[in-house]
Amino acid sequence: TPDIRRHLDRLAAEGIDVVRVSYPDLIGTDRARDVLVDHLPSACEHGLAFCRAVYHTTPQGDVVPVAGGLDAGLPDVSVRPDLSTLTALPWEPGVASCLGEVRDPATSAPVPESPRDLLRTVLDRCAEHGLRPVVGPELEYFLLEPDPAAPTGWRRSPETTGAVYTAGLRADPDNHLLRTLRQLRDLGIGVVTGNHEFDGGQYEINLTHSEALDAADRAFRFKSAVKELARREGRMATFMAKPFGDAGGSGFHLHLSCEDGEGRNVFDDPAGAHGLAAPARHAIAGILAHAPALAALANPTVNSYKRFGPDTLAPWLIDWGLDNRSAMLRVPPERGSGARLELRLGDASANPYLLIAGTIAAALLGVQAGEEPPPPLEGYGYDTDRSATLPMNLADALDALEADTALTDVLGKDFTASFLSYKRDEVERFGRHVTDWEFTEYAYHL
Ligand code: GLU
Ligand code: MG
Ligand code: MG
Repeated sequence: TPDIRRHLDRLAAEGIDVVRVSYPDLIGTDRARDVLVDHLPSACEHGLAFCRAVYHTTPQGDVVPVAGGLDAGLPDVSVRPDLSTLTALPWEPGVASCLGEVRDPATSAPVPESPRDLLRTVLDRCAEHGLRPVVGPELEYFLLEPDPAAPTGWRRSPETTGAVYTAGLRADPDNHLLRTLRQLRDLGIGVVTGNHEFDGGQYEINLTHSEALDAADRAFRFKSAVKELARREGRMATFMAKPFGDAGGSGFHLHLSCEDGEGRNVFDDPAGAHGLAAPARHAIAGILAHAPALAALANPTVNSYKRFGPDTLAPWLIDWGLDNRSAMLRVPPERGSGARLELRLGDASANPYLLIAGTIAAALLGVQAGEEPPPPLEGYGYDTDRSATLPMNLADALDALEADTALTDVLGKDFTASFLSYKRDEVERFGRHVTDWEFTEYAYHL
């Protein structure tokens, strides 16, 4: 077709002979195949075959059970390159990356466990109400380097550096952050700022805000790119929630506002309570009401729950506050076109599509219910007697998700079943695993 021709001409002009076609799987892993440009037209016509159940394998090599996967004989999904997302990889001459659309090869319909299609479903619901969510992602991560003496084989890189909100060589001794920011800009990720976080080797990068699917695509590609750039230097960037017991966790803060058909921010109202319009207040109420279930998507690993705690700047209770970083949901001080919510619940390990879809679904349910939130938290947010607590482990969060039928109705029964089945298997595998802590705690004394 003329469309493919145009892209092929552009690729040839840019000297690109390989296209890396990526899609996010259920847990947000970047699944990809490198396609030689000669085969791109065929890939676009027929799709690339991926095994539907290759979401994840355990260290023992077992395939984690998801409906339509192993139980169905490990069939294919078909992944069609979306050439509108083609971008040359600035650090890999001759290679461009693009996103792929995941389809059932028999029906050409989306598969329920495709996170990108799930987000589209939620956004369609918003569109029925004339609402267009706008999202700004902020992610933290740790940079690691190999250390044969460390039990995991990795240590923070560097182990001790400057302080939070610092930049320059004291914070970033060999300009990793600076190089990363420039590469991400050239990749078209839309980065605004980068800085050192609280702990040695921990960095934060903020992305521009945009329409929710575009923001999710950029957050997904951002995580892959940061990991790839670290690998090029023999290091590893990790977005796991709490990689070290003696350091803070890594958050995935989400800024959320909403436009109407004319592009006006419907969260702003100088005459409304706290300067917020009714949809913003209802969205807050919805996010609070569905927070225990939302945690399953925002904090999706057994490790995620070790990030929560008093004085961590990660959440502890289900609460909201005006410019209060100890609350789960913070309303930054800007109003007007900048009026927005900042959900601080998510950790960096979250699949961006699922975190964004879940947050918007909870906000939409709040808008539909028309409820007002309780009064905002004032001051210190880590007292235990103030309000409801979040789930304190993944098993409880998964139970909360299953019990929240209003939310799972929006997310879809099949998606929810796949997610619960995958994640309950993870909880079980963790439960069977004997840890170093147990040996140290029990072996000597008991
Ligand atoms: N690292 C904290 C978290 O886990 C957030 C720190 C901050 O406010 O930037 O969410
Ligand atoms: Mg931060
Ligand atoms: Mg933040």
